[in-house]
Amino acid sequence: MAEAQSGVANYPSGFRGADKPEYEDLARCIHCGLCLNHCPTYRLWGMEADSPRGRIRQMLLVDQGRLPLSASFVTHIDRCLDCRACETVCPSGVEYGKIVELTRAQIEQNYRRPLVSRLLRSFVYRQLLPYPRRMAGAARVLRFYQRSGLQATARGLGLLRLFGLRQKDALLPSIDSRFFFSQLGKTFPAQGQRRARVALFAGCVAQVAFTSLNDATIRVLQANGCEVVVPREQLCCGALAAHAGVRDIARQLARTNLSAFADGGFDAIITNAAGCGSTLKEYTHLFVAGSPEHDQAQKFVTRMRDVTEFLADLGLTALLRPLPLRVTYQDSCHLLHGQKIREAPRQLIRAVPGVEFVEMPLADQCCGSAGVYNVTQPEASMALLKEKMECARSTGAAAIVTANPGCILQLRAGVQMHATGQEVLHVAELLARALQNR
Ligand code: SF4
Ligand code: SF4
Repeated sequence: MAEAQSGVANYPSGFRGADKPEYEDLARCIHCGLCLNHCPTYRLWGMEADSPRGRIRQMLLVDQGRLPLSASFVTHIDRCLDCRACETVCPSGVEYGKIVELTRAQIEQNYRRPLVSRLLRSFVYRQLLPYPRRMAGAARVLRFYQRSGLQATARGLGLLRLFGLRQKDALLPSIDSRFFFSQLGKTFPAQGQRRARVALFAGCVAQVAFTSLNDATIRVLQANGCEVVVPREQLCCGALAAHAGVRDIARQLARTNLSAFADGGFDAIITNAAGCGSTLKEYTHLFVAGSPEHDQAQKFVTRMRDVTEFLADLGLTALLRPLPLRVTYQDSCHLLHGQKIREAPRQLIRAVPGVEFVEMPLADQCCGSAGVYNVTQPEASMALLKEKMECARSTGAAAIVTANPGCILQLRAGVQMHATGQEVLHVAELLARALQNR
């Protein structure tokens, strides 16, 4: 295990806060080890303490007060990508995503992180993401940096390299000229006969950095007979906060979203972000079973769909023109392992005439994006990205297609860093490009 650094806190007689993993969930692990070689961090370092089995063992010992909730424990839990690859292969049905998020909540409530980390976490999860106006303000500052020549100058003079910021700069989203916030409250009519009425979940960062993806998603849905409503009152889904253990904020955001999407007679609620989708589909985990909010979340969850899942089920009716393009696909962890959706995106890619689809080796392994992992654990993230780009290059594909904005950012940075010359697209963007009447 990693050496304890600071802030050791032992709570053998119980924990503060209600959010913690349940013994029954932890005890499901039978220590078989089948997950080990599917775990990216175990594959990187070969350490039991950084494997799913080792982490679950530590969680159990901490919960029983037999291991201190120390910096060492926090380090091993922080190093987990929450990619849930272990969940897919586990024969015992361990819900790893659920228990790691509850363990992070236990840490959040009981462990004092170093000052800088506390300030940054508080700013991002509590002061920024839940507030669209602050998001827009921060995005404008970033856009000024990117468009005014400051970024180009800093890159040209080697200042980013000098201050160790080169990787972080490469991972910055390119801020849009027009934010998607302007589309909130609008309804987009179906083309042709209406086959479904759906609501679009627009995201938080996506509204300042992926406006064109949201636009493309709406166009594809419309072209396939869907009326698309973008409810005005929606907020960030809370996925980043939930993954980091900041569950009070995730719960607060969930409450707002549950009421924003409650009425409207929607056949489905659609997201194009797999990371958001898996949290949205698990809103019930945030509330006590039997509570009114839990019941409300249950209704919400039954209508929640990833855009690829929804379109593959609905069936494409829009006319598609040929796109002569060799394409590979990177599974988004929270689509494949979180939502168990593997075939739908591949089916949609293959439906585009002229596209030559090539499977990528290790497509089911995380690219190292994992929410904010590429910022908090840069070395591990970059090692995973390097392997991913080698796999992507080996396919000879001109485009890497995926299903999550976070993966898109990471893969675009990978293309830049490893000079693979590939384009990175969302499945919805590939379909939008192929629409005959764009
Ligand atoms: S596969 Fe499941 S049961 Fe086996 S060690 Fe991993 S988490 Fe435990
Ligand atoms: S979620 Fe991913 S990184 Fe974390 S233990 Fe499971 S496989 Fe490993």
